[in-house]
Amino acid sequence: MTTEGKTKLEKVQRMSTPPLFSDETKPTFDKPVLEREQSEEETRLRAQTAQIQAQLIELAHDAIIVRDPSSAIIYWNRGAEELYGWTAQEAIGQITHSLLQTRFPISHEVVDALLKTGQQWEGELIHTCKDGSQVIVESRQVVTRDARNSPTAILEINRDITGRKQQEQKNSLLLAAIVETSDDAIISKTLDSIITSWNLAAERMFGYTSQEAVGQHIFLIIPPERRAEEDMILSKLRNGEHIDHFETVRMRKDGTRIDISLSISPLKNKEGQIIGASKIARDITESKRLQQNLRFLSHASKVLSSSLDYKMTLQTIANLAVPHIADWCTINMLAEDGSIEQLVIAHADPQKVRWAWELNKKYPVDMKVTHGIPQVLRTGVFEFIPFISDDMLVAAAVDAEQLALLRNIGFTSGMTIPLVIDGKAIGAVTFALAESSRRYTQADLTMAEELASRASLAIQNAHLYWAVQQSRDQLDIILHGVADGIVVYDIHSHIIYANEAAAQMTGSASVQAMMETPATGIAARYDILDESRQPFPGSQFTHRRVLAGEREAEAVMGYKKRTTDQPERWSLVKSRPVLNERGEVTLVVTIVHDITERVLAEQRKDEFISMTSHELKTPVTSLKGFTHVLQRRLAKQGDQQGLHYLSRIDAQLNKLTKLITDLLDISRMQVGKLAFQIETFDLDALIAETIENVQAATTTHSILLEGKTDAHIVGDKDRLGQVFINLLTNAVKYSPHADKVLVQLFREQNQAIVSVQDFGIGINEAHHQKVFERFYQVTDPEERTYPGLGIGLYISREIVERHSGRIAIESRKGEGATFSVALPLLQGGQ
Ligand code: ADP
Repeated sequence: MTTEGKTKLEKVQRMSTPPLFSDETKPTFDKPVLEREQSEEETRLRAQTAQIQAQLIELAHDAIIVRDPSSAIIYWNRGAEELYGWTAQEAIGQITHSLLQTRFPISHEVVDALLKTGQQWEGELIHTCKDGSQVIVESRQVVTRDARNSPTAILEINRDITGRKQQEQKNSLLLAAIVETSDDAIISKTLDSIITSWNLAAERMFGYTSQEAVGQHIFLIIPPERRAEEDMILSKLRNGEHIDHFETVRMRKDGTRIDISLSISPLKNKEGQIIGASKIARDITESKRLQQNLRFLSHASKVLSSSLDYKMTLQTIANLAVPHIADWCTINMLAEDGSIEQLVIAHADPQKVRWAWELNKKYPVDMKVTHGIPQVLRTGVFEFIPFISDDMLVAAAVDAEQLALLRNIGFTSGMTIPLVIDGKAIGAVTFALAESSRRYTQADLTMAEELASRASLAIQNAHLYWAVQQSRDQLDIILHGVADGIVVYDIHSHIIYANEAAAQMTGSASVQAMMETPATGIAARYDILDESRQPFPGSQFTHRRVLAGEREAEAVMGYKKRTTDQPERWSLVKSRPVLNERGEVTLVVTIVHDITERVLAEQRKDEFISMTSHELKTPVTSLKGFTHVLQRRLAKQGDQQGLHYLSRIDAQLNKLTKLITDLLDISRMQVGKLAFQIETFDLDALIAETIENVQAATTTHSILLEGKTDAHIVGDKDRLGQVFINLLTNAVKYSPHADKVLVQLFREQNQAIVSVQDFGIGINEAHHQKVFERFYQVTDPEERTYPGLGIGLYISREIVERHSGRIAIESRKGEGATFSVALPLLQGGQ
């Protein structure tokens, strides 16, 4: 029964209750001597004080009991009434011990004896209340004495501590439960190192039950080589010091070692004396292993990334893994033919490694089995066996001999992790534990998987590197073997690659020498010419044009050694850019194709044409002369038939003469020696005359003329006439199914335009520019071939351009063609 449950209202009522005892019966706690000499005032004051004290006593929550020397109760305050349930009336006169069935921690006689010595006694008592319930009180007792020092009464104040006690008990139960359920071993010991308590975790961690451990010396779990630590620990404890997270090694019942972190605190008694120690031991095997794994992993990563020879690298990693991560480490790779290739075997003992290789030969991996390495390679899924049982060994062994070997090695734990590239297992790493009698945990598996994925990546990189290297080597061989010069420029026009041929073409002793010579140095060895043998402008070098934005630049270049006069070599040079992902030029590849032979052959051909046409010209001229003589003779004789044949001969001779002049023109043009007879003439008259001549020779087409230019042109009238003859004869020739050709004359700005339109086969746009090239003829397999040499338009363009004019084409295949010639008008605008 406690006072805690009382309401506030009751408390207030209690305060106003009058004292139970009259002044005469109230006990006094100071000297009970009434001194006669006291003045009246003193007496009055004293009485007043006593009354206040009495009221206070009544107000106290504590039970206040006064008993006489024979333990009979003589005072029982309101607090006692409330605590125990008996009223003062019921209690007074009773013997306290009997009434309250007091349970003493020591016998009440001892307490009484102590009180008699005049000392105050303090202690906890258990009392039984009126309703039979028990209360725990904190009791203070003291004896009052009279002047002759005889005991007059025993004063007792009892405070209800039942609630607190229950809480304390609960707490200690809780504490005990915590200690028992803790994952950390909690052990207490005396200062003599004798174990006094041993929780469940300690049983698990060290393998001893609490019965086995309690009462034993702590050396039970300290390995012999570490016993000196105990002295250090004890001396610290005696000084009252704590030990926090002391990492050390302890020993299990089976003798194996365990990494632990110790925290030790001194245990004190009530008086504060150190009587022992409590230790908390945490198993840090896992975290140590984790640290070790992490160290191994980061080391392995470095090794993996530093080498491209993956076979070597894998060996290094296996060596790193042994013995910290594994007692055995093997690596198997899937060979091209699907068989398994044992690449690496690692063990701390080289002799065992040799032995394992031998064994491997004797018992090669059987691809058909549904477990172990073959299965991992097939499925790409790891195999993790934390506990290898004997049954497993029996299942894995091929014969009794192998089983004996496997048992002898004593595998305890293992894991096989696939090396995966592009979703396919290409190999497997196996870690196994044997003699170190450890077991792999989930953390080890995670580490191994991480290692395998890094190793896979390294292998992939190595593969890629070799593939690139190989194709680069191949490319290099090809590039060095090709006859074309290949030069790669960076964006600053520096040569960063050149092949053998390029070095030869530039007169360099070697590729190396060429790369070391600045581009200007190479160019300075030669006079570089364009197709018409003019100096080649530096800005037109094809790689420069590409750097300036062209996607493909092409040029014919002649290289004339400074010392000789003739071009030594001719090249067709092509450049193309290498673009990055943003489309910017990063490199320029230039291919130099030697066309010297072709150019020289053409030169020879030109010379031959020039020579032959010269040679032909003389006999044709005399043929023509004799024809005229003959014509006159036959006319006189009136031989009409003869005249007819002669006019056919004459027409053919004219054709022949035109061919010869064209050929001669071409060879003159080649050497830039086409001669012009400059005069001023009427363009419209020239056109009319030309049309008349061409019309005279054609029966199939009528040539219509529209408009006029009223232009006077300064130039070579015959040569321009030659241009219009070409255009008109082409118009007739390439429109076999049409019956007309339209010629239009007009002015545009300060130019006189002559356009010749036909309604024939037309020209595909792809050929528009090419038809002006020398010997170019559009060949279309479906079309019939037209006679000709492909030089008419070539000469025409040359002539027009020499007159500062231009010739243009407008045509679509099948839709006829319009060729127009624009000639600048004489200044003054007539
Ligand atoms: P050719 O002697 O072959 O006519 P040209 O230099 O005059 O030589 O013409 C070159 C080529 O251009 C011809 O072979 C022909 O294929 C094409 N060509 C020229 N004029 C025409 C035209 N009016 N219509 C269609 N094709 C033409």
